[in-house]
Amino acid sequence: MLTMLGAGACSGAAEQAELPEPAPEQAELPEPAPEQAAMLEPDVLRAGESEPVEDPYYPEMSNPEVDVLHYLLALDWDGDQLTGETTVTFRATEDTDSVRLDLSSALEAGQVSLDGEAIEHEQADDGIALETGALSPSDTHTLVIPYAGTPEATPAPSARPDMTEGLGWNVDEDGSVYTFQEPYGAFTWYPVNDHPSDQALYDAAITTYDGTVGVFNGTLEASARSGDATTNTWHLDAPAASYLVTIAIGPYTEHMHATSGGMEISYWTRPEDEALLPLLKHDSNVAFEWAEEHIGDYPFSSLGFVVVGGSSAMETQTMITVSRGAVERADAVVLHELSHQWFGNSVTPRDWKAMWLNEGWAMYLQQWFETDTGRSKYAGGIENWRSYDVAARRSSGPPGDFDPDSFGDVNVYLGPALMLDRIRQRLGDATFERIVKTWFAEHEGETVDRQVFTSWLNRETGVNFTRLIATWLDSERTPR
Ligand SMILES: [Zn+2]
Repeated sequence: MLTMLGAGACSGAAEQAELPEPAPEQAELPEPAPEQAAMLEPDVLRAGESEPVEDPYYPEMSNPEVDVLHYLLALDWDGDQLTGETTVTFRATEDTDSVRLDLSSALEAGQVSLDGEAIEHEQADDGIALETGALSPSDTHTLVIPYAGTPEATPAPSARPDMTEGLGWNVDEDGSVYTFQEPYGAFTWYPVNDHPSDQALYDAAITTYDGTVGVFNGTLEASARSGDATTNTWHLDAPAASYLVTIAIGPYTEHMHATSGGMEISYWTRPEDEALLPLLKHDSNVAFEWAEEHIGDYPFSSLGFVVVGGSSAMETQTMITVSRGAVERADAVVLHELSHQWFGNSVTPRDWKAMWLNEGWAMYLQQWFETDTGRSKYAGGIENWRSYDVAARRSSGPPGDFDPDSFGDVNVYLGPALMLDRIRQRLGDATFERIVKTWFAEHEGETVDRQVFTSWLNRETGVNFTRLIATWLDSERTPR
């Protein structure tokens, strides 16, 4: 997610959306495409295996007893009503006879089945409890959960000005749908184990009407029209945490453009945002080539950008979500979100206490990129960040143990970036530049936390950084 210093950087909340009339007939959910069945082969599903944990800050969300391997989302959005059917392929992580997933109370579930048999369920407190009968961790099971309702965004545990619209499903002024859902919010539009430690594979079939189309992570496999309905089928071939899932619905058009190194990038814009394309293509070309040079080969098989409403930007996996305002600022936002594809998306934090591992790296790389390319420097450059860190620790706590109600404050961005800069000063530029690449290369696709980072760094460099890291992450005041 982009960093947000003060309230001046973003526009106000969306006005009341004008919604089209709902379709009179019952929505017919799209059938999964035949190639999606291949996703469910055991050796493919293994890529979706995780070791879910309870979050220390938001334990009311998610469920460490469930490891979701794959989600198949069938979604029908008529402008007011979302009709969905989510097929969840999962394993229990311990012996249990019931399973709870996150699902907004604004969405009502119908008859749920487990491995083809109808089962009972109960909805409460933005969750759905499913009476599964005895499950053991060695088996894989399939839940099918139909549901419908008008989605509602959920309040963010944060005072950030770009989160006032709430997390999850949002509707823009023109009726277009967009999502920002860090640290959670996927549950506002599908049943989910809404936590970064449970990464899963995804397929989605999104049916929309009246010239609108659905955009999702991964690659567009098919686009089928029937009357005024369009069904876009998407496939994501690398496991993703739920906060990195995105959906956008509106009068979108896809524009393809290759970077100078030959990476094909897709850009999804609504007509009013097409004027931003030259700027977005230019910025993403420069940022992509710089990131591959300084971090390593891009870790996924596809890359796109979807330009949406709101005022934020988010590193959603392989389909980066950027608001119009974030693109117009023409700062280093594209490099920031792109760098998260390596740091955050491929190498993923185990829980929200490890968020500094995402944002510290992204901010460090952002200021390095700004310096290299002569761009205007965020908050005056890293040499000026100390005063912001002093204030942010005071208001929101230290970056390694922040106030859960101040999610995404600059304390998790600037202090950890300053810490990485101290490590660079200690090691020298050449060694540090090697560290950036080897940290990624040796942890690609893994889930990490402070302990993993610290012990790896100590081993890799032969220097004991344990105390320096603890001081920077845990101190109430900015270290010297
Ligand atoms: Zn970020």
